[in-house]
Amino acid sequence: MTETNRPQPIYVTRPELPSLDDFIPYLRQIWDSKVLTNGGPFHEEFEQRLCERLGVHHIALFANCTIGLVTALQALRITGEVITTPYSFVATAHSLVWNGIKPVFVDIDPLTLNLDPAKIEAAITPQTTAIMPVHCYGHPCDVERIRAIADTYGLKVIYDAAHAFGVECADGSVLKHGDLSAVSFHATKVFTTFEGGAIICPDEKTRQRINYLKNFGFAGETTVVAPGINGKMSEFNAALGLLQLKGFDEATAKRRAIDGRYRAGLAHVRGVTCARETGETVSNYAYFPILVGPDYPLSRDALYQKFRDHGIHVRRYFYPLISDFPMYRGLPSAAPTNLPAASRVAQQVLCLPIYPSLEHGQVERILELICS
Ligand SMILES: *Cc1c(COP(=O)(O)O)cnc(C)c1O
Repeated sequence: MTETNRPQPIYVTRPELPSLDDFIPYLRQIWDSKVLTNGGPFHEEFEQRLCERLGVHHIALFANCTIGLVTALQALRITGEVITTPYSFVATAHSLVWNGIKPVFVDIDPLTLNLDPAKIEAAITPQTTAIMPVHCYGHPCDVERIRAIADTYGLKVIYDAAHAFGVECADGSVLKHGDLSAVSFHATKVFTTFEGGAIICPDEKTRQRINYLKNFGFAGETTVVAPGINGKMSEFNAALGLLQLKGFDEATAKRRAIDGRYRAGLAHVRGVTCARETGETVSNYAYFPILVGPDYPLSRDALYQKFRDHGIHVRRYFYPLISDFPMYRGLPSAAPTNLPAASRVAQQVLCLPIYPSLEHGQVERILELICS
């Protein structure tokens, strides 16, 4: 086979972008107005449109989700210890450390892959001030049980909702849960502004405080009320977001079809389990994680390599666990014996490619590689 007719590599995700022609008028408006950032017209319109689309009342846009999480912790004055999951992207725990907070890792439920509510209470100490769960793969946490525990012990709940754009439960957007939720618009996420994110707030007062914090603490021309950070989203990213919103439902429908094909194709494959949904009424089909168990003929890493050899770049999200990285593994709660379910899942998980432009034939090829 020559270089030219070798199939293009397939990645686990590929952003769906609007046509460049449709973006040009937005760029022209930015060039003409010379308003580039600091809450310009596209920023304000994007916040408004997002509230409508998601069915929430108060949103603060951010340059990215990580700065959003760092700022959310500042806004609620979280200190001491925070209970969180080791089965996530490193930014979850990093946002705590950037606030001088000690992460306390609690195991996941092996079926939902989210923080196991039954294990939270045993990890609470007098220093605990909050819980930071993750709606992993966009599958909602057990928000009611987590709320009940938080209320009993007087803790705040900040959701890392990086994966959960567009996800709904019986009572509407999952982003409404917790004291605050932060969502990501990074290039690898289902809804992207290249870089970007947002905090969903319960009320206007909290949003106002978060807006001060994301703008160096400025509350007026000459008034600084806190040692804030620069977390603002630019007009370029906000304009892109406005345009991206138009295509989101169509993109989701395409993801849903791929999800359905994978589930049907893998239903009877011995040793392979598809991560189950966790009670959402509307999914975003952001990821397609499978668990490669001991009954499968290959190890997870051998199947990963087999895919790589065929130009298919599947990902081992989330391996290694956050608690296994050098800056966390010394914590008592990071011991693998404390995290048996997360440790096992991290050894078995593989995320298959899922994105709107993934073709039917490519999905069939991926299924064939698993089944052959
Ligand atoms: C992507 C991601 C983040 C970070 O989002 P950015 O917008 O890239 O800062 C945080 N948490 C989780 C779980 C993520 O997947």
